[in-house]
Amino acid sequence: MSVAELFSFLLGLCLGSFLNVCIYRIPAGESIINPPSRCPFCKEHIRFYDNIPVLSYIILRGRCRSCGGKISIQYPVVEISEALFSYILFIKFGLSIEYIAYLAFISSLIVITFIDLRHMIIPDIISIPGIIAGIVSSIILPHIHIIDSIIGLVAGGGSFYLIALIFLNIKGKEGMGGGDIKLIAMIGAWMGWRPLPIVVLISSIMGIIIGGGALLVSGEGLKKRIPFGPFLSMGAIIYLLFKEPILSFLYRYPA
Ligand SMILES: [Zn+2]
Repeated sequence: MSVAELFSFLLGLCLGSFLNVCIYRIPAGESIINPPSRCPFCKEHIRFYDNIPVLSYIILRGRCRSCGGKISIQYPVVEISEALFSYILFIKFGLSIEYIAYLAFISSLIVITFIDLRHMIIPDIISIPGIIAGIVSSIILPHIHIIDSIIGLVAGGGSFYLIALIFLNIKGKEGMGGGDIKLIAMIGAWMGWRPLPIVVLISSIMGIIIGGGALLVSGEGLKKRIPFGPFLSMGAIIYLLFKEPILSFLYRYPA
């Protein structure tokens, strides 16, 4: 690992720490800048040396220094994920506009994933600016044309809207929320329309394996609703980072 690669990893750790703040505060309608980090239990300010990504969690054994309240494993998980994604993006693109843009895209998908897991919502305050950012990035980024981006937005959002409408007519209840529709529109705007079928395929396979497994383990059967947003987000991130091996697997796999 070169110094620059190590730096991309450390940058990811710090960004991940900020993403945790977004995950907790956006659904509550709180500012993501002020006040500084506080313990969710005793409201004590977290000192800078107790706020070091991952390291503080290990040193404090996942507990608040002042009240001993249990700190969610989500904190280090988000930090390490963001660090790994930042590192892989840096290896792929180097220090470039693509690295910065896709790191922003992946970061918003991580925030969406954890908010959707916790609250079963995908806030418009992330997905709608995300759609606009996707269109703008297609003008700046070299590997995607604005036409692909717009078709991606319309085809992604439109097809999910249609599925939601059909489901609503047959079942008489909402199967897919508006949040999922805006999320796939955002992914389409960022990645163009071509990867969408594969992204949805990866998401569905993960949804069946992970979501189905979780339902079996929890014993709640098919009554419990599982958010689809996290799987869509993970599908998009996996495709973005591992596009080449995925395509060579899909198109050269002997039938
Ligand atoms: Zn505390």
